Amino acid sequence: AENNIGWKFDNSYARLPESFFKPTKPTPVSSPKLVVLNKSLAESLGLNPELLNSKEGEAIFGGNQLPEGAESLAQAYAGHQFGHFTMLGDGRAVLLGEQITPEGNRMDIQLKGAGRTHYSRGGDGRAALGPMLREYIISEAMNALGIPTTRSLAVVTTGDPVIRETDLPGAILSRVAASHLRVGTFQYAAGFLKIEDLQTLAEYAIVRHYPDIENDEMRYGNFLHEVVKRQADLISKWMLVGFIHGVMNTDNMTISGETIDYGPCAFMDTYDTKTVFSSIDTHGRYAYENQPKIGLWNLARFAESLLPLIDQDEEKAVEIAQSILEEYPKRYEENWSAGMRAKIGLFNEEPADLHLINELLELMYQHKADYTNTFRSLTMNKLENLLLFDTKPFQVWYEKWQARLNRQEQSRDESQELMRISNPTVIPRNHRVEEALKAAENGDLSVMENLLNALADPYDYDSVKEEYCSVPAPSTIPYRTFCGT
Ligand code: AMP
Ligand code: MG
Ligand code: MG
Repeated sequence: AENNIGWKFDNSYARLPESFFKPTKPTPVSSPKLVVLNKSLAESLGLNPELLNSKEGEAIFGGNQLPEGAESLAQAYAGHQFGHFTMLGDGRAVLLGEQITPEGNRMDIQLKGAGRTHYSRGGDGRAALGPMLREYIISEAMNALGIPTTRSLAVVTTGDPVIRETDLPGAILSRVAASHLRVGTFQYAAGFLKIEDLQTLAEYAIVRHYPDIENDEMRYGNFLHEVVKRQADLISKWMLVGFIHGVMNTDNMTISGETIDYGPCAFMDTYDTKTVFSSIDTHGRYAYENQPKIGLWNLARFAESLLPLIDQDEEKAVEIAQSILEEYPKRYEENWSAGMRAKIGLFNEEPADLHLINELLELMYQHKADYTNTFRSLTMNKLENLLLFDTKPFQVWYEKWQARLNRQEQSRDESQELMRISNPTVIPRNHRVEEALKAAENGDLSVMENLLNALADPYDYDSVKEEYCSVPAPSTIPYRTFCGT
């Protein structure tokens, strides 16, 4: 047929009451040029990657041309940023609409960096190439790791500079998400709209993300419960791979349970639970070790916004919400311990397992061991590349671990197989990501392409990718990340 890219929009969010968004067109850019296109994601969306890799594709990803069926808008939301409640909204993102995939899924397609909106405040609505490629690389790595996340369909450069501390090349990321509903969307409705609107939003989110509870009599409480479960599952997965989100504000926590907003995130190298990368997180609010409890704090804000729907009697609503929130630490702990047991090859459960795991983590901390590589080496049973392995306390631990493995019925091969699927070999290490971004900014995309290839198969132990597993040279300057760039 002719030029049929495959757009199939059905824009349910645009049918919500007008208080939830402002119709917004992307602001045109000078000369949009594709830097990276996610062909397999395009295909799974029912889009033709060859036809997207064209002037028309570039015009669409650059915001110069709306795809057929799009109804572009900026979403309204509020949120707690570092604990302070404020009105926000899409300040530099424009939702094009919802693509219905060949499998019948509904996916948001959003342009991030598409120009100013009603919610931009003092911002320019734009984004720079480095941070958009960074989001592309890390979100796709998260997906390959099996962690729920928004995806990245494409990055284009705009041909226009963005003014930060220096002039940077401007870029737009096409982000794909199950939806962009956030805890902050509910805070906005609860704080600024009528209860009917809050109810409309809750019904909308339930139908879109939790259709199984659609007809439940207690569906608002059950809705809270489902979101609590998804977030406990998500944050335990972050912790198990050493991912630090960096800006867990309530506007950056999704209702779908997908990881969103890859501004200041980074993976931990050396194991230290106090690790913080974000340049603005001066008090370590979003440090690695704080993520589980910040998750609960955010969910408590979500619960508060749902109270008037949960029960008309406020006291009763609070009681119900509290009992639901109590599920979070239980589920988180269960997930985390099950995940950690798998990381050291344990199938069954013994009371002392947690102690065994914590002893290992403590030794990793004391000997400044690399988090990912410790588990990778244990998986390969090749204990030669870390100082930790030469220490007496580790050897004592190792004997204990071997004895523990001997007490389960599964064979060593089975146990190693479990470790292989639980311990990634390749993660987006900061120095590798930076190197790829720098090369891309200088017009060489090959470094990023090789990195993306390595990250696509993070549990592959059969082909050696040592160069992506090495830790950075020791530096006196700690790695720092930035948001809003
Ligand atoms: P974030 O910290 O990435 O979650 O962003 C917080 C808020 O700032 C959101 O409302 C963003 O839309 C907005 N924002 C970030 N960067 C810009 C920008 N360059 N122009 C306008 N708004 C922005
Ligand atoms: Mg955000
Ligand atoms: Mg951001």
